[in-house]
Amino acid sequence: MAKEKMRTVKRLGAGYGLKPRRRLNEIEGGYLGRLQKCSECGAQKVKRIEAGIWKCQKCNRKFASNAYRVI
Ligand SMILES: [Zn+2]
Repeated sequence: MAKEKMRTVKRLGAGYGLKPRRRLNEIEGGYLGRLQKCSECGAQKVKRIEAGIWKCQKCNRKFASNAYRVI
């Protein structure tokens, strides 16, 4: 739904530029708080520790990736 996305963007108002807006959309898009898939063991148990750092709770592998999701 395009209208849903626009609500997030509009809330920020003008003057923030495109980059932070897009980032907020990514965060609010649900990437945070959702377990990601581990590229090593394939388990859906990868949790974000901090921006860009992810850790698999199954094989304990820690790796750097995109700040808000595993790529
Ligand atoms: Zn793993």
